[in-house]
Amino acid sequence: MSIKTSEPRLTLPQLLARLEPIVTEVIDLHAEAVDREARFPVETIAALGKAGLLGLVTPAEHGGLGLGVVEAAQVVHRIAQSCGSSGMVVCMHYCAALVLAATGDAETNQAIARGEHLSTLAFSEVGSRSHFWAPVSTATAEGDAVRLDAQKSWVTSAGRTASMVWSSRPLAADGASTLWLVPSGAPGVRVVGNYDGLGLRGNASSPVVAEGALVPASARLGPDGGGFDLMMGVVLPCFNACSAGVSLGLMEAISARSAAWCAGVRYAHLGSALADLPTIRAYLAKMRIQTDMTRGLWLDTHQALSEGRPDTMLRVLEVKAAAGESALTVASLGMRVCGGAAYRREVGVERMFRDAQAASVMAPTTDVLYDFIGKAVTGLPLF
Ligand SMILES: Cc1cc2nc3c(=O)[nH]c(=O)nc-3n(C[C@H](O)[C@H](O)[C@H](O)COP(=O)(O)OP(=O)(O)OC[C@H]3O[C@@H](n4cnc5c(N)ncnc54)[C@H](O)[C@@H]3O)c2cc1C
Repeated sequence: MSIKTSEPRLTLPQLLARLEPIVTEVIDLHAEAVDREARFPVETIAALGKAGLLGLVTPAEHGGLGLGVVEAAQVVHRIAQSCGSSGMVVCMHYCAALVLAATGDAETNQAIARGEHLSTLAFSEVGSRSHFWAPVSTATAEGDAVRLDAQKSWVTSAGRTASMVWSSRPLAADGASTLWLVPSGAPGVRVVGNYDGLGLRGNASSPVVAEGALVPASARLGPDGGGFDLMMGVVLPCFNACSAGVSLGLMEAISARSAAWCAGVRYAHLGSALADLPTIRAYLAKMRIQTDMTRGLWLDTHQALSEGRPDTMLRVLEVKAAAGESALTVASLGMRVCGGAAYRREVGVERMFRDAQAASVMAPTTDVLYDFIGKAVTGLPLF
């Protein structure tokens, strides 16, 4: 579907109304199989592309919806209530698309707006692990082209995207990194193996290597040595708000499924429901409180981002840590109150429990965020 540039800017309710039938008619239908078969959610991505939702953060001048981080986080949150893998794929796409909106060429942005170009981030490396801001991979001038050599440790949607927003050491400038637009099919770029993770099993987060991969000099995104600023200024707010959206979506789904299960399941010999046990009700209450507290911080982060509040960066750092950790708590409680039935997949919280484990170890990891937040509140520089 081609998106008209004259399309009026969608409000959040209109955006979510456009998404809702995709969730109920497509994503819900495939979520179990995506997890069980560790299958990339092709149907989800096709449906989102057709509805113009892959172009959510792409500027209207290129045919996109011209919306921002807050709307991206809301979309990812709704998707994750149904399928965590799809939520993470879309989260990574929005982060990459925002970098491309700021620094990419018109053709790529137009393809994203048309729903024909999925992208992702290729930041994490074997050498610097979760310290994504410090790539050790190289970019070397080779005639008119640039040669990339890298061992990327995790790339969501590896081999499934049209492009990757790729980090390397700078070509010649000072600075921690430079970003590049790398086509997934570029000669010398290779996906290494299939993803076989504990959770988010459909998100295809495989390692990717570049061995003498050549890209044109024009593939550079932003200035040489300017990668760090793009990572911190563009990617971090989007990634943290969207990652928190995924965690919150999973928490919402686990809380709702657990409550429904406990209200419905009965002990025949007692003539009572699971929810008649005060212990079970107390755990359900803790899950609800943790979920609602996280939502409060997430929405306040949206407000900070929208208004450009002075505490925006602190909120951005806090929200991913809070949501990632809360998701671990809520998911564990969900498994507990639903008992052996949850362990055997009968309730549908086991998939989400596994999906919820990822956020706290995805960079910036919770422990790195704690360190950053601790530095921020004591007036120390973050780096
Ligand atoms: C499902 C999934 C999808 C992913 N998708 C992508 C993607 O699309 N693109 C991408 O670039 N990356 C992606 N990643 C990678 C991710 O962002 C991290 O880089 C990766 O999870 C880090 O794992 P590691 O084993 O290298 O961690 P390590 O760096 O070995 O960390 C191990 C532990 O040490 C802690 N630690 C490290 N440094 C500090 C510190 N300074 N202070 C305190 N504690 C510290 C960490 O918090 C962690 O608990 C993905 C990861 C997952 C799990």
